[in-house]
Formats: sequence, C-alpha cells, structure tokens
Amino acid sequence: MSTIFKRIIDREIPADVVYEDDQCLAFRDVSPQAPVHVLVIPKKEIASVDAIGDEDAALLGHIWLVIGKLARELGVADGGYRVVTNCGKLGGQSVDHLHFHLLGGRQLDWPPG
Ligand code: IMP
Repeated sequence: MSTIFKRIIDREIPADVVYEDDQCLAFRDVSPQAPVHVLVIPKKEIASVDAIGDEDAALLGHIWLVIGKLARELGVADGGYRVVTNCGKLGGQSVDHLHFHLLGGRQLDWPPG
C-alpha cells in the first residue's frame, strides 16, 4: 500500500512542488505550521529515520544540501529556521515515508509539544 507521499512522487495526487531532482522532492505542507513549511522527501521509499541504511548515506547527504539551498531560496536562511523529522508513533510521525519538515518565517518555540 503506497503512502500519500509515494503517490505525490508518482503524481497520482497533486502537490505544490517547490523542488525536484532525481533523488528527492520538496513540496509545501498541506497544513502549514509556519509561513514557510516545506517537506523534503527522498524518492526512494524509506519509512523513517529508523529505516535508513548505510547505503543511503549519500542520499541523505544530498537531501541536507537540498534543504540548505531551499532555505536560502525560500528566504528563511538569514532569519533562521528549523528542520524536523518525526520518527514513529511517540515521535509524532503520521506518514510512513521519511520526510524532513523545513519550517521558517516566524519565531519557533522550544521545546516542541
Ligand atoms: P509527520 O506528522 O511528521 O509524519 O508529518 C506529515 C506531514 O505531512 C504533516 O505536516 C501533514 O500536514 C503533511 N501532509 C499530509 N498529507 C499531505 C499532502 O497530501 N500534501 C502535503 N502535505 C501533506
């Protein structure tokens, strides 16, 4: 059973895509928690941080470079921003496809709820 993010990758359902390459996709969160709230996901189906393997090291490095570039392009790099990945039930993960929330454009509180 495909996750909703796999269906976005396959263009079976629409998304507000802000970046795409052969390894990853970034699109605006449907329920934004900040003025900038983008999800960056690998095209490879990896369920969560807990499922990342040694073979994914280059992919994850690439994704972090993309996150940094997107933060600059979306105008939040100067003010500051947050990157979050929730893992598992207690971590608050609701979609079982690895994703990084890029949040910015307002003062973000800590600790999270
Ligand atoms: P999680 O709770 O960390 O797993 O984050 C999942 C995120 O996916 C939530 O912030 C949702 O608002 C977001 N989301 C769920 N479905 C869609 C969609 O179809 N398009 C864009 N974002 C989505």
